[in-house]
Amino acid sequence: MRVLILSDIHGNLAALESVLAAAAGQYDVAWCLGDVVGYGPKPNECVELVREQTALCVMGNHDWAVLGRPGINVDDFNPQARQAVLWTRAQLTPANRTYLEELPVTPVQPQGADDVLVTHASPREPVWEYILTPSVAMENFAVMAKGICLVGHTHKPAIYRWQCYETLAEGVSDLHQMATVDLLQPNPDHAHQLEISPTQRFILNPGSVGQPRDNDARAAYAILDLERLVWAYHRIAYPIELTQNQMRAAHLPKRLIDRLSFGW
Ligand code: ZN
Repeated sequence: MRVLILSDIHGNLAALESVLAAAAGQYDVAWCLGDVVGYGPKPNECVELVREQTALCVMGNHDWAVLGRPGINVDDFNPQARQAVLWTRAQLTPANRTYLEELPVTPVQPQGADDVLVTHASPREPVWEYILTPSVAMENFAVMAKGICLVGHTHKPAIYRWQCYETLAEGVSDLHQMATVDLLQPNPDHAHQLEISPTQRFILNPGSVGQPRDNDARAAYAILDLERLVWAYHRIAYPIELTQNQMRAAHLPKRLIDRLSFGW
């Protein structure tokens, strides 16, 4: 089974459509790692496409904020993000709001993928925690029983590799277990082989479809081949000006419009 992995679409319909067109024919099923809405100008259209095209979606922090759930104060968001959250809340149709309300807030183990966990942010803090360093990834590997965990939330593509080996410490006769986590920078269009074993596991981030933050403005996505255990991460140009014009028409903040041109 080849799985198209989408994350952090954020209401950017032009980006989502471009990704779906680029990936067409190369996957059997699609999963979404959350943040379908927030920031972008087409929240309803994005929710409807995700509803129709994906077999699985989890709750992101912006989805949560748009729903106005307890546990989050939108005043904690920066002023532009807050403005976009409130605008999005007013736009959502009842049916799309219901869809978002039903998204899982705990990590999901997808059907047919026993060794995979899907979550928005991290295994231990599924909606909120940013995995941006090997040390935070290490703490999450400690609470994760699977070979692969898929996360989004940071809008930065990444491969965290956990490895465990046994060493003989000096002056000690017992073998003793050591674990390390490396952050590997994925290369676009390169197939990364993932060898899963009791001594090697991965946390994988495909980057963001609708608001990349790694100084590359192109939409990001990945295809995970579950049989061959290959992670292929891709970037695709999309009509950024179209999204920006839609944002201007919706009177969304200029800063959110401008950042799409630069990918930050
Ligand atoms: Zn996000």
